[in-house]
Amino acid sequence: MEPFQIEIISAETAGDLQENQVFMKNLSGSSLAFKLLDSARKGTPLIRIGKGSPKIMLTAGVHGNELSPQIAALAVAQKLVDQNIEGTVYLIPFAIPFATMKSSRRFKGFDMNRTAFKEGTLSNEIIKVAKDLNLDSLADFHATKPYSNPGVESIFCSKKPCQESFTIAEHINKATKSKIICHKNAGTLYNGALEDECNKSNIPAVTCEVVSHNGKVDPGSQERSYLQMVAYMSYFGIEIH
Ligand SMILES: [Zn+2]
Repeated sequence: MEPFQIEIISAETAGDLQENQVFMKNLSGSSLAFKLLDSARKGTPLIRIGKGSPKIMLTAGVHGNELSPQIAALAVAQKLVDQNIEGTVYLIPFAIPFATMKSSRRFKGFDMNRTAFKEGTLSNEIIKVAKDLNLDSLADFHATKPYSNPGVESIFCSKKPCQESFTIAEHINKATKSKIICHKNAGTLYNGALEDECNKSNIPAVTCEVVSHNGKVDPGSQERSYLQMVAYMSYFGIEIH
């Protein structure tokens, strides 16, 4: 039996990432990476690695033009299948392959990190999957361009209704020094972020940002995103070496 399983959670997002030359140039392609690229031609791939508790999920590419976390997610997936882990990690390395192919922030005109409450959107689909899987937590990985909002390497979290969102952020902060940006209540700043909607559904969640220009992979940014992912997993006792 293979140590992992890939399924497609939405077909309408299908895209050929090999058409994105910047993405491909920065990829150190493992065989698993190419398997995931192949499955992205059919839609949003979800890979499951390991079994049992805890059950956590890492997502990247909710903004298709933020490439660094999507490449880091592939490296994390490869590391995880190469070793025995205690627990289950679900990874969505590219939430919207079509948007990543086009290096677009939006999909069908919408920002998927503002529409997670809306039935039928991809981000809402991810929340449904997260609930069905009974996840212990979810982390969504992004890249922010310099001098934008937030423009610095950071971790978004909130204290209500899930205090653990903040605890997870503190743990990642200790390991990476990424700045904590904490809101008292989930979803007060704007509506429909994947992280906020998870927290509102009592799935403790954070959003991690590294600094990189849109549509590019700034030097070191995929490594920083990788470190954030490693720190997030280590909160749950899932260590990769
Ligand atoms: Zn983003």
